[in-house]
Amino acid sequence: MSAEEKIEKLKEMYKSCDLCPRFCRVDRAAGELGYCELPAKIIMDCALAHHGEEPPLSGTRGAGTIFLASCNLGCIYCQNYQISQTTSGQILTVDQMTEVMLDLQKRGCHNVEPVTPTPQTPLIMEALVLARARGLKVPFVYNCGGYENPEVIKLLDGMVEIYLPDFKYGLEDVAIEFSAAPGYPEFAMDSLKEMVRQVGDELETEKGVAKRGMIVRHLVLPGKIENSKEVFKLIKKGISVNLTISLMSQYSPTPQVRRHPLLSRRITKEEYRQVLDYALQMGFKNLFVQEVNEHKITPDFNQENPFG
Ligand code: SF4
Repeated sequence: MSAEEKIEKLKEMYKSCDLCPRFCRVDRAAGELGYCELPAKIIMDCALAHHGEEPPLSGTRGAGTIFLASCNLGCIYCQNYQISQTTSGQILTVDQMTEVMLDLQKRGCHNVEPVTPTPQTPLIMEALVLARARGLKVPFVYNCGGYENPEVIKLLDGMVEIYLPDFKYGLEDVAIEFSAAPGYPEFAMDSLKEMVRQVGDELETEKGVAKRGMIVRHLVLPGKIENSKEVFKLIKKGISVNLTISLMSQYSPTPQVRRHPLLSRRITKEEYRQVLDYALQMGFKNLFVQEVNEHKITPDFNQENPFG
């Protein structure tokens, strides 16, 4: 199937939307709205050179991050809630999104990286194909929440160089409690397997900058160590310990969860250490680790990886 045929198939999905595991089946092309409340349009918050991503993505000149409106997950603690919990932003045509991608390349960014493209995938991919035809050379990074329809991921084969999925929940009850996302572990695993089939389980770099492959992100949540351990267990059993995992420590309570019994605090050094030790014992070696600082506000991906 050609890229153009894949785009047409993806665009068809707007008419009875099954772009993510919520399977809302609404006709977004006709103006109906599903869980994500997004129309069949591109809505962008902003595009910028991002220096806070994992080192192979940010490199020296930044990742070309494109923040898109809304999200198909409903994380009550979302660290990015100002963007993910609204559908407002700039409405762009496919042609305008193509120009955004080309402009990021022109500014020296090492890649283009739409954040949570899942509900906007058809038009984002259409823009990518057009951008490639107009000279886009840098890798395309599919930065998603892990709550993906594997059938959609299959259609991205050959268009995505780097996958950057979250794997938030190994335990379904935690996925339901915190993100209203039934079936999360299974959908994430099936999608990750398909991503690995496409780009392999190793991260290929050139002078320290990612060119192809995959990084899986996992944010350690307060009081949910077993959930984190289950993520590593599932990846080891179903995929590979070669996968590069970014083990994130920066959880910070948002105003929405200030009074939540578990989520109202940062994680402790001990919690992070327990998850990291478990991952190392399981045989994972390709890990990006972060310091835990209960008072720190911003993530720090610039620390050298002592294990890599
Ligand atoms: S992308 Fe939006 S409308 Fe489509 S299935 Fe997912 S949540 Fe529902």
